[in-house]
Amino acid sequence: MDLVRKKRKAVVDQSACVACGCCVKVCPVQAIEIVRGITAQVTLDRCVGCGKCAKECPASVITVQEVGT
Ligand code: SF4
Ligand code: SF4
Repeated sequence: MDLVRKKRKAVVDQSACVACGCCVKVCPVQAIEIVRGITAQVTLDRCVGCGKCAKECPASVITVQEVGT
């Protein structure tokens, strides 16, 4: 049996993030935050992969991807 479960999570291209905070405002589970004032960072354990942040991001730097957990 394959015990590796894949889940969909938000992934930020941190080099392209402009730290506007739009994603932080729309996340229903507070899984994304601005760190050091320069980039968004996702807490993967908390992210439910809803994709709201990705839709909202004006710079289109968030993608929702399958990641191993
Ligand atoms: S995909 Fe949904 S839960 Fe995950 S960081 Fe974005 S808004 Fe939050
Ligand atoms: S909405 Fe996009 S550009 Fe703005 S802080 Fe979030 S990831 Fe960065």
